[in-house]
Amino acid sequence: MMSLLKTIWGLLFRLFPCPAPTGLREIGHPGPQSPVLVTCNFDLTIKRLKKALEGLDVWLLVAQSGGVNVWCAAGGDEFNTHSVVSAIKTSGIGRKVTHRTIILPPLSGPGVSIAAVRKATKWNARWGPVRAEDIRRYIKTGFRRDEGMRRVTYTLTERLDTALGSLFPFYLLGGALFALFDPSLLVNYLLVATAAFLFFFLALDSIPGERGIVKAGYVALALLVTLAITEFYHPNGSPYRSSLIIAVVMIFVYGSELGGLAPHLPSDLDPFLARLGVGAVGNVAFAGTVRTELLNGYRELTYDHEICEGCRNCFEICPQGVWRMGEDSKRAILADRDKCTACRACLLQCQSGAIQAKKRDRNEPAGNSYIYL
Ligand code: SF4
Ligand code: SF4
Repeated sequence: MMSLLKTIWGLLFRLFPCPAPTGLREIGHPGPQSPVLVTCNFDLTIKRLKKALEGLDVWLLVAQSGGVNVWCAAGGDEFNTHSVVSAIKTSGIGRKVTHRTIILPPLSGPGVSIAAVRKATKWNARWGPVRAEDIRRYIKTGFRRDEGMRRVTYTLTERLDTALGSLFPFYLLGGALFALFDPSLLVNYLLVATAAFLFFFLALDSIPGERGIVKAGYVALALLVTLAITEFYHPNGSPYRSSLIIAVVMIFVYGSELGGLAPHLPSDLDPFLARLGVGAVGNVAFAGTVRTELLNGYRELTYDHEICEGCRNCFEICPQGVWRMGEDSKRAILADRDKCTACRACLLQCQSGAIQAKKRDRNEPAGNSYIYL
């Protein structure tokens, strides 16, 4: 019963932590040579991983992330090098296997330094695939990562899953406010807010604009024009007035969160909250973090091609495909800087100092070797 409640909580209230015990889990019948996969201690992630790994024999090492999923916890510094080092040292995994290699989830790249884990534990670490459903193929093909395993996607299923998980509390809050202050509109609100949700996330790719708030602005404009027209034809008050106003408000709620839900978009809300001085919400830190300073333009990511040692870490870890490796020089090349979401994974994994987050000089124009956001 408790497990089912935790699953429902994880599905619909993902903004809040849902911790599971840390430590070692056996999937199938793992032995001394079986792979060791590391993950966070968000209950839903562990359940989904177990399902994706059914039929395999692996060790699952659950590290402390404050009960938050890998991507959010790494971005907010909850899932970090210390979490992984501590899991290796305290779980007893060293006595269970004869090899010394762990497989890390690549979305932990902004928080877990692979070099620091190696240094602190003498264990090797390598990146697995981004999506759990690719782990089986990754293991069967001798731990080879193809391009699809390195990069994030935002498919219809993924967007409905993440949007529902993060926006349901806002939906519920709206319902509670109507129930309290105007119960006659409650059913109307529930229907309109649901329709607006489905429309926004299903039609996302067709709505103009790069950022969530801009997309919301276009939809809201269309709704407001519709409202003006219906008001014109109903001088005594349009019967659609409340529905359209509810839809506009909800679309803005959904749009303002989109940057935090879509892994290929930079967050809109987090840098805004940081500008307001909000230090953190739950386990996700905002004010003063490198990520929000990058997003607010107080810092810039810089890349010095001359210092690059060609280790490939940036290429391997960037979930957006910003980097590629040069064929002649073997050094990294900034191939698609516009895709950068300032997750800072490349910054943490670059050991040569070629990538840095420098205080931004606003008098200096953007050059070829800088990532400006
Ligand atoms: S920029 Fe840094 S992380 Fe990327 S290949 Fe060069 S040394 Fe490695
Ligand atoms: S280039 Fe941007 S998106 Fe890619 S890892 Fe670096 S900070 Fe993250």
